[in-house]
Amino acid sequence: MQYYSLNRNAPNVAFSEAVVKGLAPDRGLYFPETITPLPASFFEDIESMDNIDIAYHAIQQFVGDELPEEVVRDILKDVLSFDFPVVDIEDGIGTLELFHGPTMAFKDVGARFMARCLEYFNRDNDNHITVLVATSGDTGGAVANGFLGVKGVDVVILFPSGKVSDIQKKQLTTLGNNITALEVDGVFDDCQEMVKTAFLDTDITAIRQLTSANSINIARWLPQLFYFIFAYKQVKSKGKDVVFSVPSGNFGNICAGIVARKLGLPVKHFIASTNINDTVVTYLKTSEYVPKPSKATISNAMDVGNPSNFIRIQQLFENNFEALKQDFSAYSFDDNQTREAMKTIYTNTKYIADPHGAVGYLGLQERGISDTEYGIFLETAHPVKFLDVVESTLDTTVAIPPQIKKVLNKEEVSIKIKSYEELKQFLLP
Ligand SMILES: *Cc1c(COP(=O)(O)O)cnc(C)c1O
Repeated sequence: MQYYSLNRNAPNVAFSEAVVKGLAPDRGLYFPETITPLPASFFEDIESMDNIDIAYHAIQQFVGDELPEEVVRDILKDVLSFDFPVVDIEDGIGTLELFHGPTMAFKDVGARFMARCLEYFNRDNDNHITVLVATSGDTGGAVANGFLGVKGVDVVILFPSGKVSDIQKKQLTTLGNNITALEVDGVFDDCQEMVKTAFLDTDITAIRQLTSANSINIARWLPQLFYFIFAYKQVKSKGKDVVFSVPSGNFGNICAGIVARKLGLPVKHFIASTNINDTVVTYLKTSEYVPKPSKATISNAMDVGNPSNFIRIQQLFENNFEALKQDFSAYSFDDNQTREAMKTIYTNTKYIADPHGAVGYLGLQERGISDTEYGIFLETAHPVKFLDVVESTLDTTVAIPPQIKKVLNKEEVSIKIKSYEELKQFLLP
């Protein structure tokens, strides 16, 4: 399988090169040259297959022959070592829980898959790869955990001082080993800007192979298509048309779902549910795509004003606006609506949704789910990761799961930096 740059001004590359580079030299996102549907029997017989088999067949064409089958299966066994249950919430609506991994956010799967791929590609190479990533909270923890102890890879994470939750900070700063946390005196946008500057700084790139670990990287983005197939396997026997509502920020997760549909997964409709960062919602109304600065909300992992993966979604619909609108809707909700939804779900069902999941639930309510449909909203993080908001909104306490307990007493280690120059000094020998 070859990947081309969506800016169409860079050579096509194999999977390994796309993963190591992250972004194409023309700054475009990589995209698979072809997506070949799986045989219809794959979906007909899905209930008889285990998750590793399903994932292997779904990802095989994208990794091509660069990874031998037994290597891919080993990676998948390691990456998919926890459950992805669909939990019935109310009549015709369920939630797909994606938070049973080590850092309790859905990004664990992509981060772990990418880490294992890089480790394999770098196995005979003495040069280290440096994964440089800015985080507003969840990405950093998943990446740090996924790459911990991976040979040949150093991870440098920039996070804004005082702007991540206590639990998120613990997840970023207590691992040590090949993971370094840089605590930036600034906001998330400052961290992001420093990372972007470093990628273009030839003093650094001359001596360090830098790559990113957010969803622009195909190895972090594509494995997310497993979720949608795992969900279908669980609800197939209901005999209803499946509608997914995906809480969206950079639109990587929902885009992977649309790839799963291209593989033949029977999905009736996709809903992108966003907070007030509504660039895509406005685009669907006006057909004009106007990125905006991001605004802070209680579902902060979705505070994105210019979603980087939306261009991939447009490509999946061959840039046909009408075709996109038929299969894809987007709705935006503010923090009050999000809190009300959390309360409604809790009052009616005793289910505790985190703010991101609640936004997904609202998307299903807004579109409406008919008698012949089953609506699934994705629970992208465990409520414990947004403890303050959840406990104050629902007036209840959330039990701390073992994954989180484990990090709470560990010592935090981070290096404080104020400027790009300090990042550069750190990255140069
Ligand atoms: C990253 C994240 C999202 C948004 O996912 P995208 O793929 O960027 O759209 C939603 N919820 C949580 C909890 C996240 O961490």
